[in-house]
Amino acid sequence: MIVAMRSDATQADIERVIERISEHDLRAVSMPGGERVAIGIASAIRPDLRGPLTELLEVMPGVDHVTQVSRAYKLASREFHPVDSIVEIKGVRVGAPTFTVAAGPCAIESRDQLMHAAEEVKKAGATVLRGGAYKPRTSPYAFQGLGPKGLRFLKEAGDATGLVTVTEIMDPHDAELIAAHADILQIGARNMQNYALLNTVGRLDVPVLLKRGPSATIDEWLLAAEYILYQGNRRVILCERGVHPLDRAYTRYTLDISAIPVVKSISHLPVLVDPSHAAGNRAYVPALCLAAAAAGADGLLVEVHPDPASALCDGPQALSSETFEALMRDIRAFTRKKEA
Ligand code: PEP
Ligand code: MN
Repeated sequence: MIVAMRSDATQADIERVIERISEHDLRAVSMPGGERVAIGIASAIRPDLRGPLTELLEVMPGVDHVTQVSRAYKLASREFHPVDSIVEIKGVRVGAPTFTVAAGPCAIESRDQLMHAAEEVKKAGATVLRGGAYKPRTSPYAFQGLGPKGLRFLKEAGDATGLVTVTEIMDPHDAELIAAHADILQIGARNMQNYALLNTVGRLDVPVLLKRGPSATIDEWLLAAEYILYQGNRRVILCERGVHPLDRAYTRYTLDISAIPVVKSISHLPVLVDPSHAAGNRAYVPALCLAAAAAGADGLLVEVHPDPASALCDGPQALSSETFEALMRDIRAFTRKKEA
């Protein structure tokens, strides 16, 4: 439910509405708009209370009208928050009209490898450095990441280059340590419905990049975002990275391009696209990047490795620095054309 206040509503009117909502054990969230304030109820309202509460709120001083939110998620919906959200991290903006590119290796392998990657992606125009210190691997025998040592390298590379950093969190116990070393916490596809993890990052004051699970519907993805928002963390960035494919012979997953305009229309949250994990093959990554930009994505998360052939994780989908540089030129030309 959303209570739209009149443009001449006073602060006292707003507070009285919030108080009235709270008296029913419901959570009221105030959303200042351009001209007027809207107050959303971010709780499930008992069906028998809906009618009486609407009537009660409609006649309160300063109230313009009351509308129902049709979606299961509320804080993530455009009904609740009509304007695009922009997540700002150390001067880097994620969200329209900026097109933000995050790039770097799948896994942090050494100080040298990461520093190299950081310098190269920065030179090409990326503003965010990606790199995993904790890697979710299908096999327990595969490289699991450097852990805390990797985090230190990430912080060093971020500090040295001025790039904002993003890294994956898999365990709620690591939250404080990771947040002390990285600027954005990534929830990986495998953990999209790890509710303990979602609640943990929701209580932090750190932006979160939430990947879509490969089997998750759009509603499930937005409800996962809702967990983070509900805990109070409003800096959520969504990331489409491909869903389970019909045909694994050619691509690792299928990039759900349709999800981009759909999510942009029903949610105010910025949407990045990760074409690397979707394709699983570097040959297809540049085309998917351009497709994502054309479909209205707010940016990209791309795997780039200084020496893809030697990568300890996801080498086949990693772009070389040269290919990434060429891709960034194409992206810039495309986004400029779109603006013109
Ligand atoms: C990653 O970004 O390296 C990663 C593991 O991605 P995903 O969670 O999308 O598989
Ligand atoms: Mn990877």
